Amino acid sequence: MINASLKQLSAALAAKKLSAVEMATIFLDRIEKFNPALNAFITTDRAKTLAQARAADESRKVGAGGTAISPLCGIPLAHKDIFCTRGWRTTCGSKILADFVSPYDANVVEKLAAAGMVTLGKLNMDEFAMGSSNESSYFGPVKNPWDVSCVPGGSSGGSAAAIAARLTPAATGTDTGGSIRQPAALCGLTGLKPTYGVVSRYGMIAFASSLDQAGPMAKSAEDCTLLLNAMAGFDARDSTSLERTPEDYSRDLDKPLAGLRIGLPKEFFGEGMDTDVRAAVEAALTEYRKLGATTVEVRLPNSGLSVPAYYVIAPAEASSNLSRFDGVRYGHRAAEYDDLAEMYSRSRAQGFGAEVKRRILIGTYVLSHGYYDAYYLQAQKIRRLIAADFVAAFKDCDVIMGPTSPSVAFAFGAKSADPVQMYLSDIYTISTNLAGLPGMSLPCGFGNTQLANPMPVGLQIIGNWFGEAKMLNVAHQYQKVTDWHTRMPEKMR
Ligand code: GLN
Repeated sequence: MINASLKQLSAALAAKKLSAVEMATIFLDRIEKFNPALNAFITTDRAKTLAQARAADESRKVGAGGTAISPLCGIPLAHKDIFCTRGWRTTCGSKILADFVSPYDANVVEKLAAAGMVTLGKLNMDEFAMGSSNESSYFGPVKNPWDVSCVPGGSSGGSAAAIAARLTPAATGTDTGGSIRQPAALCGLTGLKPTYGVVSRYGMIAFASSLDQAGPMAKSAEDCTLLLNAMAGFDARDSTSLERTPEDYSRDLDKPLAGLRIGLPKEFFGEGMDTDVRAAVEAALTEYRKLGATTVEVRLPNSGLSVPAYYVIAPAEASSNLSRFDGVRYGHRAAEYDDLAEMYSRSRAQGFGAEVKRRILIGTYVLSHGYYDAYYLQAQKIRRLIAADFVAAFKDCDVIMGPTSPSVAFAFGAKSADPVQMYLSDIYTISTNLAGLPGMSLPCGFGNTQLANPMPVGLQIIGNWFGEAKMLNVAHQYQKVTDWHTRMPEKMR
């Protein structure tokens, strides 16, 4: 059961092999057993979960009154703690929101609940989604289930660790610069960041609004397809939500790949990628050629500027978004202060962690009167060039492939003392966000094979704008002939 696909779980519920309550209980019991060692969940509430499961059992019994029951009805999942959930606290991994309970649900939460999915709890994450290792959470680091001395990636590290350990069949994540794809890669999962605007950001605590996008994380591309079908769609409450005809993202899943043109950016295959990652990615490309695809070299000449541009734009937007946490309207307020200004500054000084403060300082600086043109405006121009590179590259290929992360999961502390080293973890993922493109990561092998614990490697697929169905097709065909996505860490059995 714990290794079953969402389709299999759905079939088991439809055939009454077990109830949604029984299914949720299996995962709740696993959370109780394994979470203390992993720290993937911040909040669980057995009674609330089981009430949702009972409601799902009831809708399967009585039907949905004319409309078809969603295949997801009764299947459990967990939410990254960046999504507002009514009745469950929403912390965003921060002390400043440690006791915050939202009065409403995020659009993504609403949609998955409307499909009948059952919430197992809220997942740990880097504070305000700033990080690549989950070491910045106020609630402590998340451990990688493949090797607990290693990070799970970030910022959706709780989501990734929970699925990898089979504490949940699926989870939500968010990706501002790689936070779905990089932890998916480091934990051996499949994760998808949609085209910017496809999934509503309403109720998703904002980090960098022009980059943030929610997406599914699960074991396989097929599972992600079902989740994306339920998550995507126009929402008038998010001004950047796109009004488009709803799509069935599964429509191309079974198409053969003969004739597929895969673009390999020269810049993604140069220095900087570890040899074990390179070997696994090359082997995946060989598999794709066997499936009938051809590969062609493409150029993304400005991709080297993506990390610097991102670390101007993302902190700039964060410094503005995070100004709402002032101790008045939300969360933590300092116990002692003499006047209003001191109340703000003390509440923020106490409530935010070091990385969040660093970003607020950088963001405020690059937006300040004297430096706006030199930094912020420049970064926006680079962003445009990066998008133009992709437009040119997609003239010669249908999808782009490369590594998701330059290395497999690293040890705790290995990069936390040096922010720039940490920022470089997202060197292959950030340009996608700057351009607003969709991207995926899927497991394609293991690295670090000389040591005790081989660690998963992720293959990145970047699609053209609105190319989700194509990317999922490309990923699914690979997963039909490989079994990397079915592997789980032995110790979590
Ligand atoms: N690691 C990147 C950062 O720290 C990306 C995070 C994200 O995608 N949320 O900003």
